[in-house]
Amino acid sequence: MLRSGKEHLERLRDGRIVYVGNERIDDVTSHPLFRNAARTVAAIYDMKADPANRERMSFAEGGERYSMYFLQARTPEDLRRRMRAHQAIADMTYGMLGRSPDHVASFVTGMAMNPAVFVSGARPFAENLSAYYRHMRAQDLYAAYAVVPPQAARNPDFYVKQNLPVPTLQVVREGDDGIVISGMKMLATAAVFADEVWIGNLIPLAPDQVKQAVTCAVPVNAKGLTLWSRQAFAAANEFDSPLAWRFDETDSMVMCDDVKVPWERVFVMDDALLAREIYIRTPAHCYGNHQSNVRYWSKLKLIVGLASRVAQSTGADQVPAVRELLGRLAALEATLAGMIHGQIEAWETWPEGYATFNRRLMYAALNWCTEMYSPLIDILRELSGGGVFQMPASVGVMHDPQLRHLFESYWQTPQLPALDRIKLFKLVWDLVGSEFAGRHLQYEKFYAGASFIVRNHNYREAPWDAFHQYADDLLASYGVPEA
Ligand SMILES: Cc1cc2nc3c(=O)[nH]c(=O)nc-3n(C[C@H](O)[C@H](O)[C@H](O)COP(=O)(O)OP(=O)(O)OC[C@H]3O[C@@H](n4cnc5c(N)ncnc54)[C@H](O)[C@@H]3O)c2cc1C
Repeated sequence: MLRSGKEHLERLRDGRIVYVGNERIDDVTSHPLFRNAARTVAAIYDMKADPANRERMSFAEGGERYSMYFLQARTPEDLRRRMRAHQAIADMTYGMLGRSPDHVASFVTGMAMNPAVFVSGARPFAENLSAYYRHMRAQDLYAAYAVVPPQAARNPDFYVKQNLPVPTLQVVREGDDGIVISGMKMLATAAVFADEVWIGNLIPLAPDQVKQAVTCAVPVNAKGLTLWSRQAFAAANEFDSPLAWRFDETDSMVMCDDVKVPWERVFVMDDALLAREIYIRTPAHCYGNHQSNVRYWSKLKLIVGLASRVAQSTGADQVPAVRELLGRLAALEATLAGMIHGQIEAWETWPEGYATFNRRLMYAALNWCTEMYSPLIDILRELSGGGVFQMPASVGVMHDPQLRHLFESYWQTPQLPALDRIKLFKLVWDLVGSEFAGRHLQYEKFYAGASFIVRNHNYREAPWDAFHQYADDLLASYGVPEA
């Protein structure tokens, strides 16, 4: 089934509870803080369901059509099809939605390619996982995830010694019909627009943190679950904050207060090691973060395009040093494109019978993206100079004939009329300097974990034996020179 945008919006009116400060939001599809981004998500569903995009955005299996990001690849061409579908979603949202519907779905698809990893204890967790994958793709579900314990709450001893509740989400009871979970997880991006929250542990747990070692899927409207959103980036109008207006996917703490989860939706339980390994012993992490790479690529194209437009608008594009800078930006965009295509060309036959993006190249791109976002944004910031603050506070000047006349006369340049300039610089500011931009800076640094976590993935996957052998061969090829 391919869900339409209208159907998705209807699904979001399900009694979910979202707090912004002490304001309770009952309907994210109509509340001014959320409705524009909700429409953006709906537009993704419409684009997927449009018959014109059928081949690019979906695949057929057993007489049904499913979103392409549920495809379990068996050939490099399948990997290409996945990449093109991610790209279509990322391009239409300019790479601004980190957790678009294809992100967590790609994780679950990757896990379902190696369900044997989930075999643990007496419960049929592997079957649960496979059934959940089939359920997700059949219903075209949108899942967000919260897979990190809250900051500063990673040492349960502190709370236990002081007789305080441990804030980290854990299993508090279990029975014949399922488990009960309580506590918090950070920081489910886009959960307010999703159907389900995947709860898990992407960073290692200590062996004694067994009750926190739970992986399960919970509907966003589950009784006892509340989403505590950060401040939403309220934009007065689209013109003045074009990115925040459409693309504030929001980030929420997931608070569970005695939330019941039926056994069928539990995938890992009481196994601190396995809770993390499900992501790396299956293609989950690779499929999910390939999507992140492709999404970032779309954003980088916007950065490069705007940088050149800004340089043209000030006339700086005529300066050789500025052209050189633009050339460097274009080279960086092409570098990422190469890293993404390379993940497909150097594909891996893993697990048995399936195709997976090259893990090392994927992690290298992830590291590159994490390290490069600040310098990339800084280039755009530098090219913009004070232009962003020469502009009136609001496009409202256009509504006052006298102000409009002055604005159009004095703010124009040989390169651009005044209205085009304010439009360009308002967009640039939303990418380099607004609150929305600041959140994106933080997102790009942390979405896959802090930088040391990303580098550890690269360390883990590196063929050290081969590197050592290579170095040792050279060392062995000469000895002490004769006296
Ligand atoms: C905008 C945004 C959206 C997010 N969305 C999601 C989401 O959808 N789902 C989700 O599960 N999580 C999400 N996260 C959370 C993200 O996974 C975490 O921020 C990330 O894992 C880092 O954890 P932390 O923020 O607690 O930082 P910490 O682990 O506390 O690290 C902070 C800093 O401390 C230093 N540091 C700490 N420990 C070490 C160490 N061992 N070695 C070296 N340096 C260290 C580093 O400088 C590090 O950058 C999001 C985060 C942000 C900012």
